Amino acid sequence: MPPAAHRSLFPKRTVAPPCYAERHFEGEDVFKTLLLIAIGFIVLALFRAYQRSLGQPPSSTREKTVEDMVKCAHCGVNLPRSEAIYSGGDFFCTPEHRQLGKK
Ligand SMILES: [Zn+2]
Repeated sequence: MPPAAHRSLFPKRTVAPPCYAERHFEGEDVFKTLLLIAIGFIVLALFRAYQRSLGQPPSSTREKTVEDMVKCAHCGVNLPRSEAIYSGGDFFCTPEHRQLGKK
């Protein structure tokens, strides 16, 4: 009986639980650190993507607007091609200017 009780007690309070707990804690710590690094990486990647998305549109839209800008044949005002009125090979800013025609 004593040895049996001793045996049943032995694994319970021995090295196994503290060691396991320590390892578990250590593993959790490493996991947390890795998680923090991963989160940091994701945040950095998102921030860079955000910065890129902030940096790209102005230049691309500027190129686009430069490309799509047309001049009113009457008053010479620059306006986006999509907003201009095309008539007789010329662009006009308003229907009135289209009626007035090329200056
Ligand atoms: Zn005009």
